[in-house]
Amino acid sequence: MAVNGLGGIEENKWWPMVFSTRFCSCFGGSGVGCGSRTAMKSCGKRDRYIWEELRSSAPKIAWHHMVWFSGRIPKHTIIVWMAILNRLPTRVRLLQMGLAIESDRCLLCGNETETRDHLFFECHFAKNLWSSILELCCIPREACSWEGELAWASLLLKGNSLIVRILKLPWTGHVYSIWKERKSRFFGSRARSKEELLGDIKEAIRIRLGGKSFNTVDPSNIALCAKWGIA
Ligand SMILES: [Zn+2]
Repeated sequence: MAVNGLGGIEENKWWPMVFSTRFCSCFGGSGVGCGSRTAMKSCGKRDRYIWEELRSSAPKIAWHHMVWFSGRIPKHTIIVWMAILNRLPTRVRLLQMGLAIESDRCLLCGNETETRDHLFFECHFAKNLWSSILELCCIPREACSWEGELAWASLLLKGNSLIVRILKLPWTGHVYSIWKERKSRFFGSRARSKEELLGDIKEAIRIRLGGKSFNTVDPSNIALCAKWGIA
C-alpha cells in the first residue's frame, strides 16, 4: 500500500480529499461525490472557477497578437519575438557579450550605435522602408521609436479587418527584412536597397494572402489589395 507523509493517507486518496475540501464547499457540495464527472459537466461555472484556481496566472502581454496571430509567417515572427525580447545579437549586444568586433556602428547607416532601438525604426534606412510600407497601407504617419511603433501596433492592430490582416504582415516583415539585411551586410554581402527589401515584403504578403477572399464591396479594400498585389 502506497502511503505518503500526509498523516498516513494513501496517495491515490489524497487528491480527491483536497478537491472536496477546497472546492465543493464553495458550491454547496457535500463531499467527494459532488465532484463526479457528470456533476462537473453540468456546471460550467464550477469548471471555470476550478480552472482559475488551479492554473498559474500571469499578466497579459500587450504584444502577444503581434507575434502569435493566424496567418503569420513563422520565420518573420520568430525574429520579431527575439527583437521584442531584445535577444538579437546586435553589435552592442555582441560587445556586451565580450566578442571582439571592430565597431559598434550600425551596419545599415554607419552613423549610429547599433542597438535594437536604433536598427529597426530610428535608422534612416529602416525609417524609409517603414514609411514606404505605411504609404502602401494609406496610413499617413511618421515612424517613431521602437517602443512607440510596438505600442502603436499592439494597440491598433487588433481584429480581423483587411487593413489589420495586411499590416500585421509587413510589420513583422519589416523587422525580419531589416534584420536579414543587417546580417547579410555583417557577413560582407552586397548592400541591398530599400526598394529591393520592399519588393521581398510585398512578395511574401502576396503569397500569404493571395487567393483569400476579402470584402470587395468596400472601395478602400479594393485599393489596398491593388497596392499590395493581392487583388
Ligand atoms: Zn543605422
